[in-house]
Amino acid sequence: MAQYIGVIGYPLKHSLSPDFQQAALDYYQLDIHYEVWETKVKDLSSRINQLRQPQNLGANVTVPYKETALHLIDEVDNLASLIGAVNTIANRDGKLVGFNTDAHGFLQALRDDGKFEPENKCVVILGAGGAARAVSFALLQENVTSLVIMNRTPARAEALVDRLTEYAVDKRIRTEVIALLWQDSRLREALEHCQLIVNCTTLGMEYSSQQEQSPLTADLIPKGALVYELVYNPSETPLLRMAREAGAGILGGLPMLVHQGAASFKLWTGKEAPLDIMFLAAKQALLKVGGEA
Ligand code: NAP
Repeated sequence: MAQYIGVIGYPLKHSLSPDFQQAALDYYQLDIHYEVWETKVKDLSSRINQLRQPQNLGANVTVPYKETALHLIDEVDNLASLIGAVNTIANRDGKLVGFNTDAHGFLQALRDDGKFEPENKCVVILGAGGAARAVSFALLQENVTSLVIMNRTPARAEALVDRLTEYAVDKRIRTEVIALLWQDSRLREALEHCQLIVNCTTLGMEYSSQQEQSPLTADLIPKGALVYELVYNPSETPLLRMAREAGAGILGGLPMLVHQGAASFKLWTGKEAPLDIMFLAAKQALLKVGGEA
């Protein structure tokens, strides 16, 4: 019997997941098909319910449903629950279990592709949405020295800082966590002293009204830092271009995308993901949708 996995989100025209996940499934010659399940909000609940059918192995969940999906499934693993978002659902004999592989993907790419060890480092995170939550919990668990969360909407940054602080106190983690406003005068100082800047905003995304925008101006980017951009299309966003010109290290979002997908692949199939094949397929898919790999 053929089996199915899909990506649930809206819109989904430019998702790269079908290409690199199918390449991995084909590598193992599995009779499993990875499909695009573009879903309007009114249909989300029934789409997720369909995952219980035996031919469905599960799904990826992407923008804008990572938080909503958490409330439509039967069980949520600890990390996803902490982050407050699921990006992977696995069908375990009709029971839907939610996971978050973004945190793993972020760290794996940081180490493998960015050659960066986060312990005892000062970090500035731009944004406080779903991706920022996964990234900040991942970094907190790696014992960074400080996490500065900077967001356009202050309440969202403050809510995230409260949650991170509560967790840090509970686990006796000594990381200093603070929220800063976009226009805060302390921002320049925080950036000057940091070793890692992570863009978790949507600024710079291709096919959006924000594609020419950068969350930072060039003069704020310290030469010695690594600038990690979660946006993967285009491969060089305005922020990464400025960072490169400023002499900072740069890391794009594609390796994270592949690593989070690799972790999802293992959850559905129980098999090790063929990373090289997934990377190649993701780069080819990016070229197809107009980005540069
Ligand atoms: P989200 O929950 O919608 O959060 C969006 C963030 O961007 C919020 O912090 C928002 O600030 C900020 N933002 C939006 N427009 C802005 C503007 N004009 N000026 C300043 N800030 C602005 O989205 P998400 O799920 O966190 O995703 C964020 C990005 O990460 C997306 O580009 C996504 O594709 C990428 N991502 C990549 C990977 C990967 O594997 N590479 C994985 C996950 C996500 P407010 O709170 O003020 O609205």
